[in-house]
Amino acid sequence: MKQRISEKHGSDHFNDQCGVVGVFGHKEAANLTYLGLYALQHRGQESSGIVSNHGGQFYQQKGMGLVADIFTKDRLKHLPGDAAIGHNRYSTTGASELNNAQPVSVNFAFGNLALAHNGNLLNSEVVRSELEAYGAIFQSGIDSEVIIHLIAHSRGSTMLDRIVDALQQVQGAFSLVVLTEDGMFVARDSYGIRPLSMARLKHGWIAASETCAFDLIGAEFVRDVEPGELVWIRRDGVQSYHPFPKTNQARCVFEYVYFSRPDSIADGHSVYSIRKRLGRQLAKESAVEADVVIAVPDSGVPAALGYAEACGLPFENGLIRNHYVGRTFIEPEQAIRHFGVKVKLNAIHDILDGKRVVIVDDSLVRGTTSRKIVKMVRQAGAKEIHMRISSPPTLSPCFYGIDTPTKQELIASTHTEKEVRRYITADSLAYLSLDGMLSAAPGEKSGYCAACFSEQYPIVLTGPDQQQLPLFEPFESRSKHAVSPAVSSGARSATKAPTRKRTE
Ligand code: AMP
Repeated sequence: MKQRISEKHGSDHFNDQCGVVGVFGHKEAANLTYLGLYALQHRGQESSGIVSNHGGQFYQQKGMGLVADIFTKDRLKHLPGDAAIGHNRYSTTGASELNNAQPVSVNFAFGNLALAHNGNLLNSEVVRSELEAYGAIFQSGIDSEVIIHLIAHSRGSTMLDRIVDALQQVQGAFSLVVLTEDGMFVARDSYGIRPLSMARLKHGWIAASETCAFDLIGAEFVRDVEPGELVWIRRDGVQSYHPFPKTNQARCVFEYVYFSRPDSIADGHSVYSIRKRLGRQLAKESAVEADVVIAVPDSGVPAALGYAEACGLPFENGLIRNHYVGRTFIEPEQAIRHFGVKVKLNAIHDILDGKRVVIVDDSLVRGTTSRKIVKMVRQAGAKEIHMRISSPPTLSPCFYGIDTPTKQELIASTHTEKEVRRYITADSLAYLSLDGMLSAAPGEKSGYCAACFSEQYPIVLTGPDQQQLPLFEPFESRSKHAVSPAVSSGARSATKAPTRKRTE
């Protein structure tokens, strides 16, 4: 391998892969929000926060770290009321500070307001600059704060109008919960990129990024929030609106591949079953003579089970994970990540010694995890090692809310498959094909965003004249429209490239 795999985390801005929860109409709203956040811990481990509403008065508790460490009994007692929203956050370099923890909460002319957002807004820097030019003073570095300012600047006469107005001006991915003094709004962008579901409590409602949050608290799943839907929950009822422009759906396929918890039901489908299907499809495409199939735990397990089942090979727990160490990618510092692979996995000699081993993992990003695991399995005595990946080569970064390295750091984007195999030192390497992945995922193939694998980005930025602006068109070639934040109600101009830099 000529080119060294970059060791530096490539992101240069705040990029969230988060989890949100909102509870309305239950006297233990904050406790239920806490439990929901606990179930969604895998979506972000950097900071967590809850804002509650008690008779129009808002209370807030936020902290850095894990949900269970931040929300002591005492802190939860300071979150009274029958409505609350919460947020778990993961962000990349530079953003690891309390100031950027969500929910974002403000008091403005229309009263108290708090917002928790999962996703990534593509035009947030442009909107932010425009708002600042009109005197807005931002309190944090997160893109989500622009939504709050747009709500505050809107000329809509009701909170509903203002929220619709604000969300019509942002472009990109949002699954969010908004707490107001007399209700809660739940919204998902028209593409449906990030998941968001709703359930009934005995008294009240809960919305959450994933259904595993409902299972923990015994809430009864009702349905997913539809792409482009805004749900307004109040004491006198629940109303659904579709105020955002209709577009093709582009649900994130990587939620199925890796990100969502396998016990969640996303858009009506079991994440676990889909992962198993991905494994079966992988076996169809790249079966190999072997003695045993093992998984890279935990996320590779369902696909490995599917692979083993389809090949008629035994599945074994050849690698054991130390569950007290966080997910590798999740730690902001690369140094910890390298250390983490060794600390968190160990091979079982008895299972691997003298065997031809298939290792199944869900994705291969930089290749550093695979390289270390292959070495570990080899040291445990494996005779042959065949690496199988239940997704296609990761070629391009995600701009819609999943943290991915820059293009140059994605090994498949800079190296051939043969070079990658040599780098990870496996005897063979095979990925799932793009078509195979999309056919194993439920519904229409065209209903997914698979941009990290296909480089086909579904969101096209649009200006107020509805002229379509491709995501990567250089800044200089775009027309600049100064839109007054006070009067605009259409799509906001995209005069600047999205926050994440293209690296090729
Ligand atoms: P790498 O060492 O960069 O090839 O990372 C691959 C490993 O990271 C796989 O085991 C995946 O399960 C995991 N992974 C892939 N994408 C992400 C992500 N966005 N966040 C956390 N872990 C990830």
